[in-house]
Amino acid sequence: MPHGWPGVIEHYAQWLPVSDATPRITLLEGNTPLIPSETLAGRLGEGVRLYFKYEGVNPTCSFKDRGMTMAVSKAAEEGAACTICASTGNTSAAAAAYSARAGIESVVLIPDGYVALGKLAQALAYGARTIAIDGDFDDCLTLVRAISDSYPVALVNSLNPYRLQGQKTAAFEVCDRLGRAPEYHALPVGNAGNITAYWMGYCEYHEAGVIESLPAMLGFQAAGACPIVRGEVCEKPETVATAIRIGNPARWQEASAALRESGGRIEAVTDDEILEAYRELSSEEGIFCEPASAASWAGLKLLAAEGFFDGVECTVVATLTGHGLKDPDMAVKMALEPEKAPNELGAVVEMLGLG
Ligand SMILES: *Cc1c(COP(=O)(O)O)cnc(C)c1O
Repeated sequence: MPHGWPGVIEHYAQWLPVSDATPRITLLEGNTPLIPSETLAGRLGEGVRLYFKYEGVNPTCSFKDRGMTMAVSKAAEEGAACTICASTGNTSAAAAAYSARAGIESVVLIPDGYVALGKLAQALAYGARTIAIDGDFDDCLTLVRAISDSYPVALVNSLNPYRLQGQKTAAFEVCDRLGRAPEYHALPVGNAGNITAYWMGYCEYHEAGVIESLPAMLGFQAAGACPIVRGEVCEKPETVATAIRIGNPARWQEASAALRESGGRIEAVTDDEILEAYRELSSEEGIFCEPASAASWAGLKLLAAEGFFDGVECTVVATLTGHGLKDPDMAVKMALEPEKAPNELGAVVEMLGLG
């Protein structure tokens, strides 16, 4: 890379359905850090090496940028004048940013009152036509599907096959960094596109002989929105982890296949477990992610509690899907009030117990 990281399409072009004619609509997404755990890994088991794939440092601060660079590049190649998506927030932020980059209009439908403040701010700042629907994510998705079926707008939800193509590059990066596949890959599951995309990426590297083994995929849903765990559509999904507040995942079948083929597991974690994990990641590991992302760590702890990692030597990668600043309300709600002090050296020194 003589001129630095070129973004996921250019870097992984040979693995993606692109040609020289495909414009590269990129904000140099990808190449995110694989951060070794310093303190939390030990809680899983003595033989566990744990890494966090920190997707919060992408250009719009979530992994959705990997899929959106592909979806919008293909939409631009096909001459689309407008993109549309339904979103719990991060897809709309990415769609709005990449559409702006391409000079294409964007429309985003979001569930009114259930999108974290940072994500809403992004969609508006990038200039998307932002419409809050009196319904949940699944209702928004039904609407955008109907609109894109009948009108000339490009659907960039994860039903768009190019989204998964872009997202699979995160699995490539993990393997390129480790020199192999991990034994386990943990991630939060909402619409189930990302777990499907990672599995696709690992399988492609495996078939090409780049890696010799495949990981078991570990998916975690919020207990109030866990249709795949229960095996039935969740009519009224509820969770503080708004990015995975989805009752009828679009990629349900594909995710089930990934879980089955990889010998993986899918489990539910409660909101309390998610918020505890969220706080541990930031205060003990120094990695600030949004609540949905923390489902990865919450789920790994759940498995550890049942002895899953006992006596096992293994490498575990947990994807942290989005940045903590996406949801500033939650961050402030979880923290204590800042302490107040007068503007006086003596008072502050005394407060800190240093005097
Ligand atoms: C989209 C998203 C998820 C869920 O990914 P799916 O592909 O819908 O399963 C998890 N966390 C964050 C932060 C997201 O934006």
